[in-house]
Amino acid sequence: SFGPNIFVESQWLLFKAAIDSHLTKTWSASPIINGQAIHDSSVDGKAQKLDSHTVRAPWNHEVIAGDVQYANADLARQAIDAAVAGQSAWQAVPAAKRAAILRKTADLYEENYAELMALCQVEAGKTMQDSIDEIKEAVDFCRFYADEAERLDAKAHEFTDLSGKQSRQVYKARGTFVCISPWNFPLAIYTGQIVAALAAGNTVVAKPAEQTSLIAHFGAQLMYQAGVPVEALQFVTGAGEVGGALTAADNLSGVIFTGSTQTAQRINQSLNDHAQASGELPVFIAETGGQNAMIVDSTALPEQVVRDAVLSAFGSAGQRCSACRILCVQEEVADELIELLQGNMAELVVGNPLYAATDVGPVIDNDAKQGLEAHIERMVAEPTASILAQTPMSASSVVSQEQSTFVLPTAIEVKSIDVIGGEHFGPILHVLRYQARDLNKLIDAINATGFGLTLGIHSRIENIVEHIERRAFVGNTYVNRNQIGAVVNVQPFGGCGLSGTGPKAGGPHYVARLMQLSSESVAT
Ligand code: GLU
Repeated sequence: SFGPNIFVESQWLLFKAAIDSHLTKTWSASPIINGQAIHDSSVDGKAQKLDSHTVRAPWNHEVIAGDVQYANADLARQAIDAAVAGQSAWQAVPAAKRAAILRKTADLYEENYAELMALCQVEAGKTMQDSIDEIKEAVDFCRFYADEAERLDAKAHEFTDLSGKQSRQVYKARGTFVCISPWNFPLAIYTGQIVAALAAGNTVVAKPAEQTSLIAHFGAQLMYQAGVPVEALQFVTGAGEVGGALTAADNLSGVIFTGSTQTAQRINQSLNDHAQASGELPVFIAETGGQNAMIVDSTALPEQVVRDAVLSAFGSAGQRCSACRILCVQEEVADELIELLQGNMAELVVGNPLYAATDVGPVIDNDAKQGLEAHIERMVAEPTASILAQTPMSASSVVSQEQSTFVLPTAIEVKSIDVIGGEHFGPILHVLRYQARDLNKLIDAINATGFGLTLGIHSRIENIVEHIERRAFVGNTYVNRNQIGAVVNVQPFGGCGLSGTGPKAGGPHYVARLMQLSSESVAT
């Protein structure tokens, strides 16, 4: 199991009771334009109901979380126009006031933790610990970007020429941003994108992943309650077509996106096409996939390696772009480590995420499950690969396999990185042996995947750690620890190459990237 329970029993019971009181609820979500919930859209002058979708818990499809009405392309355009119309008023709000609203959002998220936890569990299938971490990260983003708004506002550079004339350079808002967020961090990344853009004085059209619209809708309501003006935040539900309509708009100043590399490439193309038509290229921030390795040499502490690799590969059911996908083990210690890995994986509790002891919950939906199981089958059929371990469902779990989307945590030994064939976003860990003399070849093969997100290094030789760090092409390196769970303003998070465009979430350059520098000269 991933570790000791952080609660003493009496606190735990109160905490659990507060969450349970929300578990019987059903929620609903629909687009919100200028503060109005939209339930129908006019097509050829006639009002038509929006398409409604039932949301089922990934761990038991008989549990209904609620229903979502999807926007369409026409509403997407209306949302953008509304945000653009609200831009001048929001950018005129002083930074201190914007920051206060974001801090109030953080407070409201904390006050409403029980309902947010219930939503993380029912809609996204998150475990207890992952749900706690989710809310904490969302709160951290609000407070950190609030601080950033004030820091950048105070950071105007003053210049004086010889005649005593003054000029200064200040950070100013850019305009309307579209924020497209993923289902794997349905509150944290969703909130982080929005509050960063709002902190910068930009207005926002937010489109959360269709799988997790309910928690996003509740998050938006808390933001309005905290004082975010309804013109400054427009909320749009729906799948890829709606996202496509948003990023094709010709009056955007930027897009913040977290999701797959392929979708990022499509958005980039759409923004380029738009730039050719209108001349202006919006800012594009993308945080995408990874093919993340952990390199372990023969001096590493075996028990620690296995604990960190198991958490990094199977925590959040492997549904993190930072997750460890390839455990690269020096030949001399490989047999010992594989045996420890098998023992540790046998201890994992896979099942209902509502149970406090559960380590690994379901994956998000049937498409994800089918893709991951197809990969495992392909690996079973591959002559150079072999299954090392697969953790069964926990015996105490009440969940039926057919009415849920569980994928069993699986470790597969492979002979090369190529055979893995790209990123598989779930609880699958590949294990690769390497010879010490081939360390450089290994790092080059990891670089050759084209991704560059996280890298784990386990070694007690400083020179080796430094050498690997220098040669590897990644955004976040973790030494002698796990490689997931970047903390806001501690490990700014984001990668390079196929993993994203750069400015790191939760770091000192993120809000600045959403702003423009403007010079002001005042005649004296
Ligand atoms: N920031 C997360 C972490 O460090 C990963 C974000 C993602 O999966 O998109 O684990």
